[in-house]
Amino acid sequence: MKPMGPIPADFRARGGALLIGGQKASALAERAGETPLFVYDIAMVEARIARFRTAFPSIDLHYALKANPFAALVHRIVPLVDGIDVASGGEARAATEAGMAGFCVSFAGPGKRDAELEFAIHQGITINLESENEAARALAVGARIGVRPRLAVRVNPEFELRGSGMRMGGGAKPFGVDAARVPALARRIVAEGAEFRGFHIFAGSQSLDADAIVEAQTATVALAARLAEEAGAAPPRLNLGGGFGIPYFAGDSPLDIERIGAALEARYRDRPAALADTRFCLELGRWLVGEAGVYLTRVVDRKESGGQIFLIVDGGLHHQLAASGNFGAVVRRNYPIAVADRFGAESEEVANVCGCLCTPLDRLGDQVAVPRAQVGDLIAIFLAGAYGASASPSAFLGHGPAQEVLV
Ligand SMILES: *Cc1c(COP(=O)(O)O)cnc(C)c1O
Repeated sequence: MKPMGPIPADFRARGGALLIGGQKASALAERAGETPLFVYDIAMVEARIARFRTAFPSIDLHYALKANPFAALVHRIVPLVDGIDVASGGEARAATEAGMAGFCVSFAGPGKRDAELEFAIHQGITINLESENEAARALAVGARIGVRPRLAVRVNPEFELRGSGMRMGGGAKPFGVDAARVPALARRIVAEGAEFRGFHIFAGSQSLDADAIVEAQTATVALAARLAEEAGAAPPRLNLGGGFGIPYFAGDSPLDIERIGAALEARYRDRPAALADTRFCLELGRWLVGEAGVYLTRVVDRKESGGQIFLIVDGGLHHQLAASGNFGAVVRRNYPIAVADRFGAESEEVANVCGCLCTPLDRLGDQVAVPRAQVGDLIAIFLAGAYGASASPSAFLGHGPAQEVLV
């Protein structure tokens, strides 16, 4: 047997059946007509946002759309946050279509094409510049269409977030402008008549270490103040990035965001003079939506091989790549899994839960202890709310995409 990660405590059972947003998982699957499907519980997302607001009363909250761009979900999030961060022209369109004002959208990401820059500038979206070349192109596009661009500089800091799952800063990187060259670029933005919006400094993702995040945020505030002084330009906004993690695996503990909030609020209260008129913001994806999603998939076959039990399900890595361990994981470990109609029941056997793709990579549970499941039973794979449906290769092997439902 191999361990699995923790099931978020919000999930309850009624008569042994898993409830999502107060509804039985099996009823949700029946109503959808087909499995697999993703179900997102909006009340869990709202509770996350409320918890953030309490912990960070002076800090703006942005939603990083790439974590989950499902339109029905984004529509519900828009009125509850101060902005949306996007990383492509398609996401920029989705954010504005979901009702977010262009002024509250910021656009990061390498390789922005001229047509994407044009759409963003036209909408009044802030562009987080990833290079001097991109700055020149954004200024040229603004001049051509007669709109003053709103430009911020994404900084590649000299430090990185200790122990984060995905490094976004430090050393040679495709993201941002090396800190030493940022003041000159900020001066140029101002000199060319664009609206300077400040700095974007994002040091890493999927961190469960509050101390490491506090340390990175402290360094970020100090760096932003130094850059602002050297540039001689007051940054209206300091975007401190995302990266708050959630527990996926056995032994992971939830992040103490109240501790991070207390520290960042203190940094904000006695911020350096160069940041006197600066709003701080965090752009969170995973922490806001990750635990609110469940991937439901049905057992199609049950077989034995080499003395092990295999439950073959109708879903797989084409929808939930991360649960298969193939989305940036160094070592494959088990996401939390349950038999939906026997939620909380004692485990009776050790089984492998494998997807329906014809590749050995498609394993969603490796020797997990579960109640006995039969063909037709529904399997729930938790932590499917972020980097799931949209971050998986749904065209691979032709099974098609999964349905998505908001409850
Ligand atoms: C991915 C991303 C985020 C969100 O990261 P999470 O780890 O999901 O919070 C925020 N900002 C930028 C620029 C990103 O690329």
